[in-house]
Amino acid sequence: MLAIRVHEFGGPEVLRLETVTDPVAGKGQVVVRIRAIGVNPVDTYIRSGAYGTRPIPFTPGYDGAGEVESVGPGVSGVRVGDRVVVYRPAAGTYAEKTLCEQREILALPESFTFEQGASLGVSYFTAYTALFQRGRAKKGETVLVHGATGGVGTACVQLAHAAGLRVFGTGSTEAGRALARQSGAQAMFDHSRPGYTEEIRGALGGIGPELIIEMLANVNLERDLELVGARGRIVIVGSRGKIEITPRLTMRGNLDVLGMSLNNSTAEELLEAWRGIHAGIGSGHVKPVVGEIMRLDQAAAAHERILAPGAIGKLVLIP
Ligand code: NAP
Repeated sequence: MLAIRVHEFGGPEVLRLETVTDPVAGKGQVVVRIRAIGVNPVDTYIRSGAYGTRPIPFTPGYDGAGEVESVGPGVSGVRVGDRVVVYRPAAGTYAEKTLCEQREILALPESFTFEQGASLGVSYFTAYTALFQRGRAKKGETVLVHGATGGVGTACVQLAHAAGLRVFGTGSTEAGRALARQSGAQAMFDHSRPGYTEEIRGALGGIGPELIIEMLANVNLERDLELVGARGRIVIVGSRGKIEITPRLTMRGNLDVLGMSLNNSTAEELLEAWRGIHAGIGSGHVKPVVGEIMRLDQAAAAHERILAPGAIGKLVLIP
């Protein structure tokens, strides 16, 4: 089978498409034929070595969807041909097939395409955790999704809107902002425009949002501290560098700045998040937005794309 392999940490050029031996399902495992792969910014951090070293070579990728190709001994309730979502298999998802423990697959919702299934895992677990577990989002509150146009942002907008929050968001292109509006954002602002936080404050009648979900804290944290309402919460989901802030701003309104990483979620927290996401699939408000589709052999270009401005939902690779 074909798979992307990383033999050394570095730029996108280290992603090499190679022929490797097909996986074989052992005890408690299944082999999934991958039909779509979700690309996440974290894939680029791991590839570059920014997240520390790991045994090489390896196949990147946390998200995927496909069909069960074979089932190992001791696996129950899973049949060859089942349509499944694959979430964080150690073997990686940038490949034609991957080897999964049974706990790393979920049934693909009937109404979902493979591309939508591959867009579910990291983005929706992150959005749920940031909004409800770290951010304590409540019905009737206003949330600013600071970066509402990408995988996590569109998921945040859908979940927050369905939970009865008023959702404001930001994005740097009209196409991305339109997408976030369709996902449930009441108003969208352009974070590439000087003075946009004043526009947000104006639209809110001078009162800051109770909650900010922040995708780029190294650029925005000081602004968030100025903007958020009294006793407000800022949840840092993404950050790619340093920023100087004025700590006194946190004293202005007893503000909470909360970090989050999915890696820290307990099994109970993940289960609670899955219940929330699953309920949203059932009621129809969880609908992953697939923006761009590229081929597996374009993985290097996809890694450039995912870090560039102009997100329009989720970026997906097809093997
Ligand atoms: P993505 O699909 O590439 O989207 C990136 C988002 O960031 C887009 O909405 C983009 O808006 C926005 N952005 C760019 N410049 C911005 C700015 N100056 N201010 C506010 N937002 C800005 O990535 P993603 O999958 O949604 O992930 C978003 C971030 O969360 C990434 O940094 C990722 O590493 C992080 N993340 C963290 C966790 C965790 O566990 N903590 C999990 C998943 C993701 P435009 O493109 O419209 O400019």
